[in-house]
Amino acid sequence: MLGPDAQACPFSTPETVSREDPTMTADSHKLPALPFSDDALDPHISARTLGFHYGKHHNAYVTNLNKLVADTDLAGMGLEDVIRKVAGDGSKKGVFNNAAQVWNHTFYWNSMRPNGGGAPSGRMADLIGNSFGSYDAFKDQFGKAAAGQFGSGWAWLVSEGDRLAIETTGNADLPLAHGKKALITCDVWEHAYYLDYQNRRPDYVATFLDKLVNWEFAEANLG
Ligand code: FE
Repeated sequence: MLGPDAQACPFSTPETVSREDPTMTADSHKLPALPFSDDALDPHISARTLGFHYGKHHNAYVTNLNKLVADTDLAGMGLEDVIRKVAGDGSKKGVFNNAAQVWNHTFYWNSMRPNGGGAPSGRMADLIGNSFGSYDAFKDQFGKAAAGQFGSGWAWLVSEGDRLAIETTGNADLPLAHGKKALITCDVWEHAYYLDYQNRRPDYVATFLDKLVNWEFAEANLG
């Protein structure tokens, strides 16, 4: 069950099991279906990258999380509740990392769409203009933040009251663990871009903004 402030991300849509595991139970965490086909983001993100990233990495986080919570008081608890419950608990770091990565990746897939990218319109355009001065200023700041995140992590656009802000988090960390509302995210772990862009993270982030970002999803997350 999603919490009262659950976001628009379809974390619990009915058709979520794309890779069945015989040990799964009815209340196991599921791998949500991708919101597009494996090749839908090509050439910006290749089917090969998506195949590994979704089919191997995202799937592994789901499998690991189910193993870690089995037969504990976290079993059967919704994903966001698990994240909130174990955030900051050093003894539950493995649970946090895997639960957060399940959430982050589902959020990331939905942060993109075929033929996305470019400046938003409507409410998001107004918010970006008010918060950053212009879309170009936002793009410059988001690109620098994402490229500058040292090592593995995530770049986020978050909502803070009536303004937007750019944040980065390391490894699996996410705004939800800090009581903040995410609107979109860009995965800057190397596995997100290395097959297509090698070490050129800034080019991957620029492509994310120019060709992929899903502003409708961002606006839906404003609530
Ligand atoms: Fe990733």
